[in-house]
Amino acid sequence: DKGLEKSKTNFFDKLSKAVAGKSKVDDDVLDNLEEILVSSDVGVNTTLKIITRIEERVEKDKYLGTAELNKILREEIAGLLSETNSGEDTEFKIPENKKPYVIMVVGVNGAGKTTTIGKLAYQFKKQGLNVVLGAADTFRAAAIDQLQVWADRVDVPIVKQEMGSDPASVAFDALESGVSQNADVIIIDTAGRLHNKINLMNELTKVKRVMQKVVGDAPHDVLLVLDGSTGQNAFEQAKQFTAATEVTSLAVTKLDGTAKGGVVIGISDQFKIPVKYIGVGEGINDLQVFNKYEFVDSFFK
Ligand code: GDP
Repeated sequence: DKGLEKSKTNFFDKLSKAVAGKSKVDDDVLDNLEEILVSSDVGVNTTLKIITRIEERVEKDKYLGTAELNKILREEIAGLLSETNSGEDTEFKIPENKKPYVIMVVGVNGAGKTTTIGKLAYQFKKQGLNVVLGAADTFRAAAIDQLQVWADRVDVPIVKQEMGSDPASVAFDALESGVSQNADVIIIDTAGRLHNKINLMNELTKVKRVMQKVVGDAPHDVLLVLDGSTGQNAFEQAKQFTAATEVTSLAVTKLDGTAKGGVVIGISDQFKIPVKYIGVGEGINDLQVFNKYEFVDSFFK
C-alpha cells in the first residue's frame, strides 16, 4: 500500500524499539506504547482506552510476552474501529435505492475537499454512473475554478454561479440540474470558513433545507474532509463541524504525507463517525475506500 508506507514504517519501528530487550509487557513497555500512540496522533482519550484494554489483558495473563503485543494491539485497534466502521468495503459504492444520491462535502479550506470531490467523481464515473458537481463554495473564486478543473479532468458536468452568490441557490440549481440529467450522484462542495459556529451552522442548515425542496431526503451523506497531517487540528475541526451539522462520514486526506496515520483511529473513536475514504496522494487515483483491516495491517505488517 504505497500511500500508507510512512505511517507503517514509523509506527512499527517505534513499537520495535519500545519492546527491545523486553520479554514481558511491563509498565515500561506500556508507558512507551502510550507515548508512541499519542505521538502518532491517536489522541489522548483513545490512547488511554487502548492502553487500559491492554492492561486488562496483561492482568489476566501475567506471562503475556512482548512477542504477542503486535497481535494484541492490532486486535484492540481493529476492535475500536469496528465500533464505528463496518469498514469492510474495498469498492466505491452508493446505495441502489437512492437516486440521485446526494453527497454534501464540508471541511475547512485546504483540507482537500475539492481534490476529494474530483477523485470521488472519477471513481463513480468510472463505474458508468452519471455524476454532477455543485460549486456551492461561492466564497472563494479559486474554489469554483478548482472544482471546474476537476470537472473538466473527470469530464462531468458542473453547476456553478459567480463568486459571492448564495451557496444554497447553487446547491438548489445543482440538484435540479442533476435530477433533469438523470444523475446518479450529485456532489456538492460547500464553503469551508470556520468564521464562527453559528454562521457555519446557519449556512449548512440553509443549504440542506433548500436542497430538500428538490430531493426530499437530501443530503444522503454529509462527508467531512479532514487533513490527516494536521493532528490535533483535525480533531478540533471535527469538533466544530459535528457541532454545526450532522456529519455522517469522514474522509481523511494526506495520509501519504504523514507518519501519523493514528489520527484516523482517534477521530473515528472520539466522534463515532465512520471513516469512509482516505486520501493518499494528489493524483486522481489516490483515494481509497477505508478498509479497517487493510488500515490496521498497514500499521503492523
Ligand atoms: P480544499 O481547499 O479543501 O478544496 O483543498 P484542495 O482540494 O484544494 O487541496 C489542498 C491541497 O492539498 C492541494 O494541493 C491538493 O493537491 C492537496 N491534497 C488533497 N488531498 C491530498 C492527499 O490525499 N495527499 C496529498 N499529498 N495531497 C493532497
